[in-house]
Amino acid sequence: MDILREPRITLIARPQFLEPGHLPVQWKGESSDGERIAEFAGRLCYMSQHNPAGRTTAEYLRNILKQGHGSVFEHATYVMLIEGISRSCSHELVRHRAGWGYSQLSQRYVDESYASFVMPPAVQGDAALEAAWTVQVEAAQAAYVAAVEQLMERYAWIDDRIHRRKMAREAARSVLPNATEVKIVASANVRAWRTMLELRLGEGAELEIRRMAVACLRVLQGEAPALFGDFEIYRAVDGSEAGRVGFHKV
Ligand SMILES: Cc1cc2nc3c(=O)[nH]c(=O)nc-3n(C[C@H](O)[C@H](O)[C@H](O)COP(=O)(O)OP(=O)(O)OC[C@H]3O[C@@H](n4cnc5c(N)ncnc54)[C@H](O)[C@@H]3O)c2cc1C
Repeated sequence: MDILREPRITLIARPQFLEPGHLPVQWKGESSDGERIAEFAGRLCYMSQHNPAGRTTAEYLRNILKQGHGSVFEHATYVMLIEGISRSCSHELVRHRAGWGYSQLSQRYVDESYASFVMPPAVQGDAALEAAWTVQVEAAQAAYVAAVEQLMERYAWIDDRIHRRKMAREAARSVLPNATEVKIVASANVRAWRTMLELRLGEGAELEIRRMAVACLRVLQGEAPALFGDFEIYRAVDGSEAGRVGFHKV
């Protein structure tokens, strides 16, 4: 049984900007496609492609953030493969609806007999807590394996083996703990990422999703600093990382 102690975040898709030849922008400064899509959309609203103020993309987008012209940030989408998070963490994540799309590992189709489990940050680092938690999780996994076996017997009358296994697993998963690892593909536009990050980076957020949000933010800041650079990561009083936003919910 693998015990996971941190999430694994992999960017699997980024925006691609195809500049229309008949409406070229007078770009200034370095920028990524996601940032250019946002600037292009913003400039279209006022037909200011000639860049009268001579702003770099970073300067232009900062002003858009300041003004709260949020729809401009809905055109660029970043897609992450998120692994090493618990079922309870993914349940919190999927509460974010507007601008989000998800595809999550199915516990009906996938055999969880060999699932990994995510140790909560609050348990990590305390030997006694870690030992007790591990025993509890091992017992839950053993209960799952036993339940699948018994349910497979109960459903022996179903000829289709795939269907029979699905019937057994969908009932047996009820004994798996919230700590069971999930893998999820999460896609969101920039405005949606910003809203989720603002809520989940805060010190009021649950520790595991906060840790996940910090990891996602680092990836996004590397991809598009002009879109996510106003977020600041800091060390909270409890010693873990948290974050705050410069421009509240655009
Ligand atoms: C610290 C914390 C504690 C929480 N505790 C709980 C809890 O105990 N129980 C619980 O059930 N949930 C809890 N949640 C989840 C929370 O209630 C939200 O479901 C979650 O944060 C998603 O936020 P959202 O609805 O703003 O996101 P999204 O669904 O992505 O929506 C983004 C924004 O779009 C607008 N919007 C979306 N849908 C509507 C709509 N139908 N009508 C009007 N405007 C809309 C709103 O402005 C919203 O902020 C908690 C969240 C946090 C951060």
